[in-house]
Amino acid sequence: MLQRFTEYTHLEPQPRLTVVGAGPGDPELITLKAVNALASANVVLYDALIDIQLLEHCSETCEKIYVGKKPGESHSQEKINNLIVEKAFALGHVVRLKGGDPFVFGRGQEEIEFAQQFGLPTAYVPGISSSVAGPSAANIPLTVRGVSDGFWVMTGTKSDGSLSTDLALGLQSNATLIILMGMNQLEAISKVCVAHGKGEVAAAIVQSATTKAQKSAFGFAGSLDKIAQKHDLRNPAVIVIGEVVRYADKQWWENVQESIKNYDKKN
Ligand code: SAH
Repeated sequence: MLQRFTEYTHLEPQPRLTVVGAGPGDPELITLKAVNALASANVVLYDALIDIQLLEHCSETCEKIYVGKKPGESHSQEKINNLIVEKAFALGHVVRLKGGDPFVFGRGQEEIEFAQQFGLPTAYVPGISSSVAGPSAANIPLTVRGVSDGFWVMTGTKSDGSLSTDLALGLQSNATLIILMGMNQLEAISKVCVAHGKGEVAAAIVQSATTKAQKSAFGFAGSLDKIAQKHDLRNPAVIVIGEVVRYADKQWWENVQESIKNYDKKN
């Protein structure tokens, strides 16, 4: 049974938790503050999607524990929460290293709240989220004056597996829509776009953004599933819907305009 920190105040180094954003993938896209946190960690608990090179910022004595999913095994959130508290009491400074920004669909808040229940001091280091770095790594500006007034970041898959109703709301605005965890919902997303008269809005899928494996493809919101199939795009990927996408690849956009004109001439 875990006990409150007040009974452990004599411990050295002092038990504490820092939840740290690792950035979107490229190991250079981590903050200096995150690097300093890693350097002072006694234990690091890291996720899948973290570039292993980042662990080189840790000391040799730092215990490095992978808590991402492995085939046939998954660390439940409860197990991770308990591990954070146990390791902090046993070894001191625990860094919880999570992809992107841990407060963007990263459950960072849940881990902080759990640790605080045991009296552990906590700190937070934000990271560059894939929701912003994903589109920009494919040269897609999130806002363009006169084109998009802002951007919405939303999940494609809610915890009950359903598509978020935010998509339909977002499509009523001229904002750029950025969808995370949406690759299993591409057909449904496209259908909602078509139903809202936005099937012909430019769209993109960016896979493994900022890493050496980055792949992206452009097309239209009404055919996201076909874009993914044609270019063999999979998780982890961000979906971008909005006219800003055409600024990423002017040649692609001109070719599209040309083929529409030719199609109109023929028909
Ligand atoms: N906290 C993370 C998001 C975690 S949710 C962040 O701020 O980036 C996991 C989802 O993030 C994935 O399903 C995918 O949609 C997106 N994602 C994470 N890393 C990515 C990357 N390098 N390229 C594209 N999408 C990524």
